Amino acid sequence: MTVEEITELFSKKLGKQLPPDPGTITAVARESLRNEFLQADVGITGANFAIADSGAIVIVSNEGNARLVTALPRMTISILGSEKIVPNTADAFTLLQTLILSSAARKLTSYVTIVRGGSKLAQRDQPQEQHILIIDNGRSRMLADPNFREALYCLRCGACMDTCPTFRLFGGHVFGHIYPGPIGIPWTEYTATPDAAGQFAPLCISCGLCQRVCPEDINIPLLIAQVKERYTQRHGQLSINRTLCNYETFVGFASATAPISNFLMRRKAFRRMLQSLLGLDARRPFPPFNRHTFKKWYGPHTSTGSRPIAYFVDTYADMCEPEIGKAVVGILEYNDCKVTLPKQIGSGIPAFLYGDMKRTTRAAEFNVPKLAESVRDGCEIVSSEPTATYCLKELYPRLLNSEEARLVATHSHDLFEYLLQMHDKGKLRDFPRATIGPVAYYSPCHTRSVYGKSNALEILKLAGIDARPVRYNTCCGIAGTFGFKKGPEGYDVSMAIGETLFERLKTLGLSQVLTESSVCKMQIEHGTSLPVNHPAVVLWKQLQSPRN
Ligand code: SF4
Ligand code: SF4
Repeated sequence: MTVEEITELFSKKLGKQLPPDPGTITAVARESLRNEFLQADVGITGANFAIADSGAIVIVSNEGNARLVTALPRMTISILGSEKIVPNTADAFTLLQTLILSSAARKLTSYVTIVRGGSKLAQRDQPQEQHILIIDNGRSRMLADPNFREALYCLRCGACMDTCPTFRLFGGHVFGHIYPGPIGIPWTEYTATPDAAGQFAPLCISCGLCQRVCPEDINIPLLIAQVKERYTQRHGQLSINRTLCNYETFVGFASATAPISNFLMRRKAFRRMLQSLLGLDARRPFPPFNRHTFKKWYGPHTSTGSRPIAYFVDTYADMCEPEIGKAVVGILEYNDCKVTLPKQIGSGIPAFLYGDMKRTTRAAEFNVPKLAESVRDGCEIVSSEPTATYCLKELYPRLLNSEEARLVATHSHDLFEYLLQMHDKGKLRDFPRATIGPVAYYSPCHTRSVYGKSNALEILKLAGIDARPVRYNTCCGIAGTFGFKKGPEGYDVSMAIGETLFERLKTLGLSQVLTESSVCKMQIEHGTSLPVNHPAVVLWKQLQSPRN
């Protein structure tokens, strides 16, 4: 709200016209509220922690209201969820620091109130009564569900809401029930009703950023996918979501029929037909499909380095832009790697977005044994698509919960992490001098989510490329296939989320953008009209340049 709006609200509620001055408004609020506190018989609070061995309640606030509520009335009632109970003061203080750092990026908030026994201030003629009301309301059931119990670790710091691209757009009234935001989805599943949770769960576009910022490392995207899965089991899947879960079949068909498919995709009438039949927004450009796939190119290829690598190519670099796969192989071979291509299918991440966990699990069940065999043969696994790396390192081990999946996760790397590791061991060959001028760089969500930094940016700098990262801490908006869906809950939201990114990239005034993600590339090209390339493609061109 603006100062003017707050002034209008206060003036209306208090029955006197106030000036639009924050200092005056604060003083009037204090004067008016203080009397309420002084006259109250009962003070009711929540609690951030309840300490079991002393019976103390810890309340964090920024305005001091909790201190007034607990100190002045004759009776206080603290209402807390059973998950707020911690064993002792040391544990409470550890969590307190975590909570404050994650919520406000400060070491301490303005007020930390610890209440134990009745307040002396309130003892006018009799001791203050203190009551503690512990609420279960679904928490025991959540605790008993092995798939959801980790949601109880939530400290309510709010960091997941601050980073969530769709929550930032919609706010808690749309993206929430009683509990708002990303963690509000699994919480609503148990503390309200599964249907209430399922109704706002589709606002999660599975960017993975919330887990990255969560101080408790709660796998929120996985919890949300399970809420979506349960909801679709009860109510069925939307037909557009079913289509998009089948993304790999669709791309396979379009690749096999290219260039006819590309010709049709450029025809407005055909796109309008796809929009009305399948729900694919006609405004969203499709990437060109390629019948000369990477896997076909790789078939007769022989690789002869001394470092064995198994390449997980994923769908886009295989069927749309095989130049990425060829560049990855070229860069690895330049660094004495022997690249093999184990049997594999697409990562299955598009189905995860729509809660089709069975389909994603099937992809994991197919890929993991093949990749594990390569690892047992001495290979490290390299992928060039951030969502594929996310699947290999984080999602598959959770879905399969097997030693094989953990083995694959430990030996999986994105291309640039692997190159950086070689660099740290002094094994990375020098890149010849850069052949391009300054470029913008955008780090995809799943790279940030897995690594918390960009390995690609470091490699680009080592290669002498002046790559300038755009300052932007949320998602570009396309979120896999979400931005392909027709209308407000798809294309429109996707473009609204990306608007700030587009503006910042355009403001940089550079001639091209680099990013590792295929869908971020599609979104940025569409939103800025700038050319967008995979860093591997640029580096491989540099290695091949006749100037070098
Ligand atoms: S995965 Fe991304 S979109 Fe989904 S809740 Fe988390 S931050 Fe929001
Ligand atoms: S889920 Fe994690 S990030 Fe979100 S409010 Fe809870 S503790 Fe904070």
